Amino acid sequence: MARGTVVIVGAGHAGFQLAASLRQHGFSERICLINDEAHLPYQRPPLSKAYLKGDGRPDSLMFRPDKFYREQHIELIADRAASIDRAARRLLLASGSSLDYGHLVLATGARNRLLDLPNANLRDVRYLRALDESEALRQRIASARRVVVIGAGFIGLEFAATARAKGLEVDVVELGARVMARAVTAEISDFFQERHAAAGIRIHLGVQATSIESDGANVAGISLSDGRHVPADLVVVGVGVLPNVKLADQAGLPVAAGIIVNEQLLTPDPDISAIGDCALFASPRFGASLRLESVQNATDHARCVAARLTGDAKTYDGLPWFWSDQGEDKLQIAGLTTGYDRVVVRGDRGQGSFSAFCYKSGQLVGVESINRASDHVFGRRVLAMNRSIEPEQAADTGFDLKAALT
Ligand SMILES: Cc1cc2nc3c(=O)[nH]c(=O)nc-3n(C[C@H](O)[C@H](O)[C@H](O)COP(=O)(O)OP(=O)(O)OC[C@H]3O[C@@H](n4cnc5c(N)ncnc54)[C@H](O)[C@@H]3O)c2cc1C
Repeated sequence: MARGTVVIVGAGHAGFQLAASLRQHGFSERICLINDEAHLPYQRPPLSKAYLKGDGRPDSLMFRPDKFYREQHIELIADRAASIDRAARRLLLASGSSLDYGHLVLATGARNRLLDLPNANLRDVRYLRALDESEALRQRIASARRVVVIGAGFIGLEFAATARAKGLEVDVVELGARVMARAVTAEISDFFQERHAAAGIRIHLGVQATSIESDGANVAGISLSDGRHVPADLVVVGVGVLPNVKLADQAGLPVAAGIIVNEQLLTPDPDISAIGDCALFASPRFGASLRLESVQNATDHARCVAARLTGDAKTYDGLPWFWSDQGEDKLQIAGLTTGYDRVVVRGDRGQGSFSAFCYKSGQLVGVESINRASDHVFGRRVLAMNRSIEPEQAADTGFDLKAALT
C-alpha cells in the first residue's frame, strides 16, 4: 500500500488511467498528474483516424472534462518533470517547483523518431503523435495536393488512407518488402497493400527516401534510393517512436529499449514504477522483456499499478490487443504473433472479412482479424485462457468458436 502522494509523470493514456483507477480503488491521498501538453488528457488513436478525417473539436478527444479532475481531487499540474532526486523522494519540475512523492510513476510515453535527411526541417515535413500535430495536419491536407508518407507502419497507412479519402495524391515509401512487416503476417500486409492500391495510393516498397527536395522554404518532393523522384508539397513521416527514458536514465534507473521494470512494473527503486509506452517490462506470460505501444498496454499497466498501490500487488499479465482503422477496413490483433511458424486463414479474403490465426509449435499465439470482430473477441478470450484450437478447426468456418471457450 502506497503512503503519501502519488506523483505521475505524463498525462497520456497510462498516466490518466492510473490517476482514475487509483481513485476507483479508494486511494485517498494526494494524486499529482504532471501534464506537459497544452490540453486536458486526450486519446491519441483518433489523431490519425476519425479526428484527422472529420471536423470534430479537440474537446471530443478528452478522456474527461475539467470538472472530473476537481471532483476526483486529481491535481493536474501543467508542467514538465525535469529530474528526480531519489534520495529525497522529490520530483523537480521545469518551472522550478518540486513535488515530494510517496510513490512516483513514470508514464512518459514515446516520441517520434525523427528523419535524418537533408531538408528534413522544412515546415511541411510533418509528424503525427500529438493533438496539435493532428490539428495542423488536418488543416494542411485541406490545401495540399500531393503527399508522400515515409514509412508504411500503422500510423503512416492510417494517415495515407485519410489523405487519399480527402482527395490528395498519395505516395507511400517503405524500406521493407511489405507494409506493416514488423507487426503483422504477410496475409494481412498483402490485403492492405491491395486495398490501398485500389484506393489509388501508390506504395513503393524496398526503397528509402534519401533527401527531401525543396523549392525555397517549401517541400517540392523526395528523392528515392533507386534514383526516382516523387513530387510532393507535403511529407508525413511515420518511421516509429523512441521511448522517453531520459528522466529515468538521469536518475540512475536502468534503461535499455525502455525503462526497465519487473513483472509488477516496478523499477529497482521500490518507490518508482514505469508504465505504458516507456516501460520495458518482464512478462512471465511471454517469457521475455516487452515494450509495447498500444492503448491496451498503457491502460492495463495503469490498472495493475493502481491495484498494487492500493494493497493488491500482482504480476502484470495483460493479454496484448490492438486495432488499426485504414480506409473502410478495421484490423484487430489479439496476442503477440512474433515467432509464428504457421498461419491459417479463416473467412473470406475476397469479401474483405477474414482472420489470420498464427501458430507457434502447434499452439495458437495470435489472431489478426480484418472486419471480423467475432474472431478477434474469440482470440482475446482463448489466448487469455491460455488455450488453443487446432489449425484445422480455425480454418473451418463451420467450427463453432464459442463452443471452444466452454
Ligand atoms: C496517431 C496515433 C494513433 C494511434 N493509434 C492507436 C490505435 O489505433 N490503437 C492502439 O492500441 N494504440 C494506438 N496508438 C498508440 C497509443 O496511443 C499509445 O500506445 C498510448 O498513447 C501510450 O500511452 P502512454 O500514456 O504510455 O504514452 P503517451 O500517450 O505518449 O503519453 C505520455 C505523455 O507523457 C508526456 N511526457 C513525456 N515526458 C514528460 C515529462 N518529462 N514531464 C511531463 N510529461 C511528460 C508526453 O508529452 C505525453 O503527454 C496510436 C498512437 C498515435 C500517436
